Amino acid sequence: MLVETFEHALKKVDQKCCDEDSSCSNYLRYYNNQPYNKLLKRKLAIETLNDIFKITLIVQFLDHN
Ligand SMILES: [Zn+2]
Repeated sequence: MLVETFEHALKKVDQKCCDEDSSCSNYLRYYNNQPYNKLLKRKLAIETLNDIFKITLIVQFLDHN
């Protein structure tokens, strides 16, 4: 369930609608985080989500060995 949520999030931020060093209102930018909009970068979200997937795989491997 949680993994599916992260997969969904990755699909969202992996859209090529704006520059990787930026973000847009398609996913990351909302009214509530307006003060931080310039700090929100698509590339960082992708990297973070991919790190989470790697860690999940390592934990699953360790659990089965
Ligand atoms: Zn975009």
